[in-house]
Amino acid sequence: MYVLALDESGTHTGAPVLLLAGLAVHEADVRRLEHALHGVLARHLTPLGLDPDKHELHAKELKTPSRGRPARPPYPATPPSEWLTVPSAVRLAILTDVYTAITTLQPTDPGYPPRVFAAVVDRSHHRYGPVKAADAYAYEHVLHRFDEMLGRINTTAPTHQRGVVIHDRRQQHERRIQEQATIWQRKGVGLAALLQVPLFIDSRASRLIQAADLVAYALWRHYQPTSDDKYSTGLWPLVDTNDDGELSGVIHITPKFRQCTCPPCRSRTGS
Ligand SMILES: [Zn+2]
Repeated sequence: MYVLALDESGTHTGAPVLLLAGLAVHEADVRRLEHALHGVLARHLTPLGLDPDKHELHAKELKTPSRGRPARPPYPATPPSEWLTVPSAVRLAILTDVYTAITTLQPTDPGYPPRVFAAVVDRSHHRYGPVKAADAYAYEHVLHRFDEMLGRINTTAPTHQRGVVIHDRRQQHERRIQEQATIWQRKGVGLAALLQVPLFIDSRASRLIQAADLVAYALWRHYQPTSDDKYSTGLWPLVDTNDDGELSGVIHITPKFRQCTCPPCRSRTGS
């Protein structure tokens, strides 16, 4: 079984793209990945007398920790980030090392490697300006691409592999995704290899959900107008690739895909 953890960026008004991204890890490697990520935190935080278990891997917080906010009804107060007390050099070293931990994880069975999935929806596209439309479209793409990989694996796998999708419980749009998931489940939408999707888990309790946040952040930086590949370069080789050599695990939905130089678009246009 594969577990695909997903995370989203760009749901706010004015965001140039909506991005749904994540990491699919075989069940035999979930604990190993979590252990590797925990190891990075322990190596950097324990010497400072800090508890790695009290630190969530959240890329934006590692870059710029939040100072917290007083309550503004209907929104409750948010406490300052646990990362505020950690020196910037340590936070950035952790960020670099966790990406290395993800990109160098050796699968228990080489036939079941970790795989990156994403849908990047250009919000300037007239159909996907509203977040609800972009979101539904991104989910449908990612789930189909995950299912497609499982189908490909199952043509030769000695035991039938299925997939489960997990998502951060604390994201604001949980209800919207749940409503969408109910529709998918009812319709079946041809997701043959997937179990009920998605399951909502508190990101504080799952380093795998946190890994999805890191993947989403890295790709998000790539798709900004000032494209930054610092963290995405190592992730592209992990993108699921189909028999035609296309980076089929990531789709960039943009009217300008023929001119786009992102690795998934280039793999499709052959440029
Ligand atoms: Zn592209």
